[in-house]
Amino acid sequence: MWSPGIYHPDQVFKSKEDQIGQLRRFLDNGAMISFVELSNETIQVVLPRTTQRRHSHLSTELIGKCNHFIHKQGCSKKFNDRPLECQALIPQGGECGFSDEWSRERDLVLPWKEYEQVIAEFEEEHWQNARAMA
Ligand code: SF4
Repeated sequence: MWSPGIYHPDQVFKSKEDQIGQLRRFLDNGAMISFVELSNETIQVVLPRTTQRRHSHLSTELIGKCNHFIHKQGCSKKFNDRPLECQALIPQGGECGFSDEWSRERDLVLPWKEYEQVIAEFEEEHWQNARAMA
């Protein structure tokens, strides 16, 4: 089953200024917030939207076909703009895999903990706007 790669927070946040605005602009460009369950906690992360969630900023589903995938051509994003998890894939033995040094939890998921508050404030603003438009 397909799951788009997860971005590293450094790919989303370029400075300490207006981090909610930076997150909003990043999500407006085809990304969404979802979450990863670790053994003792749940961490919210940012990844490309899936084709089923093409218009959603938030999703409870991490699984789905990446909206940046173009049939036959592969990924529509330049290598440096792809999620870090996608960049870390190495073609080997007829398929792509990760090096033995790579730790998804340590290198990618746990760094998102620092941004819990930013994501919570974005979500609050998002739902307030949704209620106002209802
Ligand atoms: S490599 Fe590109 S198409 Fe594949 S999951 Fe990553 S962003 Fe999506």
